[in-house]
Amino acid sequence: MVKIDELISWQQIHLSGTGEVAALESKLKQYYGMQYALCVTNATTGLWAIALALGLQNQQFVTTPYTYGATLASWLFLGNQPIFADIEPDTLSLSCEAVRQVITPKTKALLAVDLFGIPSDTVALRQLASEYGLWYVADAAQSLGATRGGLPASLLADALVVSFTTGKTVFAGEGGAILTNHADLYEKLIWYTQHPIRQHLELGLYLDNEFAINGRIHPLAAVLANATFEESLQNLQVHQQECFQVIELLNSLGLTEDIDFANQGINPSFFRLTATLKDSTQISTLLKILQSHGFRGSLESPPVRLIYRQPSFLAQYQHKCQQHFCCPQAEYQSVNRFCIASNEKLNYR
Ligand SMILES: *Cc1c(COP(=O)(O)O)cnc(C)c1O
Repeated sequence: MVKIDELISWQQIHLSGTGEVAALESKLKQYYGMQYALCVTNATTGLWAIALALGLQNQQFVTTPYTYGATLASWLFLGNQPIFADIEPDTLSLSCEAVRQVITPKTKALLAVDLFGIPSDTVALRQLASEYGLWYVADAAQSLGATRGGLPASLLADALVVSFTTGKTVFAGEGGAILTNHADLYEKLIWYTQHPIRQHLELGLYLDNEFAINGRIHPLAAVLANATFEESLQNLQVHQQECFQVIELLNSLGLTEDIDFANQGINPSFFRLTATLKDSTQISTLLKILQSHGFRGSLESPPVRLIYRQPSFLAQYQHKCQQHFCCPQAEYQSVNRFCIASNEKLNYR
């Protein structure tokens, strides 16, 4: 149980971003090898703060239509115009070729996602963004603990966001964090989201913005995330091994499209383990065969719907989109992907 003395000391340090908050930020900086980490209320708020700090309001950005709506929610709210580019069939992340085809002179940013915890090609996306002078922002809410080519997922983004809500690698009730190597971006994020006490500490006594929106992480969430951070990453490794075993079985059965993460140096966090059936196979047939190999669990629809097919997106934002929506791969995947939950742990770590 928490003692009242502890609560008093938390109150004293909470607004300043020191104590548990600083400890969590330091774990994140160390994990990613990045210079700045800022804990925030949740990942959605983190993405919102990044857009504000980068001046992304009423601007055009390129993103994927195959993600959870929270990826785009805050950017849409700020009046930004999404342009959807198609995805890669194996990693479900933005295809650089497709992005190239839709970039216009007005495009200001690239918003990538590590969907289901599969790391996008951060090296290629970085190169592309630099070539066109775009901000590269990554929604890494599902990919903490995932690597590609030995690099943490989305490492080369100008800013990436992680989440500590239900089902994510580290669970703290609610919470999130932004990581970046840009000092000026970090300072603006502090300015927009943190209490003047933290602003004084980090920006200097002469700077003070009472008009910041409260984006602070809950102090108890920071305590929880700190207490479970290392163990959560260790548990993730077990989960990853289990998923790779299921993948081996699937590949050996040959009823689903081959999953070739291992040869590509991709180690997803497997927020979900997903696959697509080959043409003629029925899902019920696959389930029976899996069960005959000792698989106990279920095959389910993924918790992702194509953004531009959602009535709530169309009702609110279709008028913003000048684009004829056409992402055949994303459309195909949104219909044909399924999730493999071999036991409860696969879905709720
Ligand atoms: C969970 C999640 C978010 C939102 O995270 P919150 O911390 O709940 O705001 C955003 N994008 C993706 C891909 C997510 O999975």
